[in-house]
Amino acid sequence: MNQTEILHAIPCDPLTGSISVPIYQTATFVQEAPGVHKGYDYARSNNPTRAALETLVAKLEHGKAGFAFATGLAAIDAVLKLLSSGDEIIAVDDIYGGAFRLFTHVYQKFGIKVHYVDTTKAENILDCINEKTKLIWIESPTNPTLKISDIQRISHIAHSYKAWVVVDNTFATPVAQLPLLLGADIVIHSGTKYLGGHSDLVAGLVIVESPELAEKIKFIQNASGGILGPQDSWLLIRGIETLSLRFKHQCESANKIAAFLLQCEIIDEVFYPGLTTHQNHEIAKVQQNGYYGGVISFTLHEDTIEAATAIVTQTKYFKLAESLGGVKSLICQPSLMTHKSIPREIRIQSGVKDSLIRLSCGIEEVEDLIQDLQQAFALVSNNKIVSQELIQD
Ligand SMILES: *Cc1c(COP(=O)(O)O)cnc(C)c1O
Repeated sequence: MNQTEILHAIPCDPLTGSISVPIYQTATFVQEAPGVHKGYDYARSNNPTRAALETLVAKLEHGKAGFAFATGLAAIDAVLKLLSSGDEIIAVDDIYGGAFRLFTHVYQKFGIKVHYVDTTKAENILDCINEKTKLIWIESPTNPTLKISDIQRISHIAHSYKAWVVVDNTFATPVAQLPLLLGADIVIHSGTKYLGGHSDLVAGLVIVESPELAEKIKFIQNASGGILGPQDSWLLIRGIETLSLRFKHQCESANKIAAFLLQCEIIDEVFYPGLTTHQNHEIAKVQQNGYYGGVISFTLHEDTIEAATAIVTQTKYFKLAESLGGVKSLICQPSLMTHKSIPREIRIQSGVKDSLIRLSCGIEEVEDLIQDLQQAFALVSNNKIVSQELIQD
């Protein structure tokens, strides 16, 4: 959806004409007679503010129904509850750490088995798919090395085994990528990131196409109760109003910053799907409609934790914090932050080297962001020269 369609997919209040969706801060709804009401009976089951958000995200993703949860992980949890003991999942190998923790430390003990596979090569899925496989779980692009998987091809494989394809569309957003149109069955989002867009809330979303899945997720949402409250539903609608504007600006800045990083002497490798050197650039180009996202990661020639720390503590506009997708730029050092709990060897195997740094480009002027990185790199290079001179003395 373009910016016009997004804004006008949000209804005005039919009761008062309020151009902003009202926040229905209520626990229950008064009934005319037992069971006779206006479509709302209890706020866990349904709330008009949340309903407006759920309709909006369903439209955004070209799905039939959307469901809002308290966090991205609560949304992932709701999808996992579709499974029964003995079922199997095939998941992308560098899956979001929180999803890995949920799969391994919560669901494994209920008898759900997960195979981790490099899904950038769809053939790899054929090695472990079987009649017990119920879900194929993809993130594209992944975090933080931005690998891309072919959603259409994977959906063909999955459907021939009657498995559902889940795409975590957090990094691409529906502005760039529409997994349901590529054959996926379920889209999930951490609304905390680009959809909210202002780093001021946590939220999660599930969007589906089939009425059968819609009914199942609706049941789970009400039965387990991990819903998004009305205030945060309103705030998320408010964030989504500017999604296309923000995301396109962020993509444009990221493109320029990636090109700048390629020229920096202290940098070893730059990971950005928009670069023609990226291993999955060709599929990204088609699948993401020319929008490659606002996240970039890179490694340093001096591949040490200390070298990366020296940089991430020197930027002024890129704030040192976890998360991504907000209007303010963020910088993070996965080895000490998001990926700290993963044993070093496994972390490095999955591409998260000691010196890896991840950027989330915000909506600041791109020249300011480039200058910010430039001065941080210069400080670190100068310090190195100074310390080498000191050693020689
Ligand atoms: C942040 C994130 C999540 C988890 O969302 P929360 O809102 O933090 O629970 C899931 N998937 C991806 C790709 C994320 O970046």
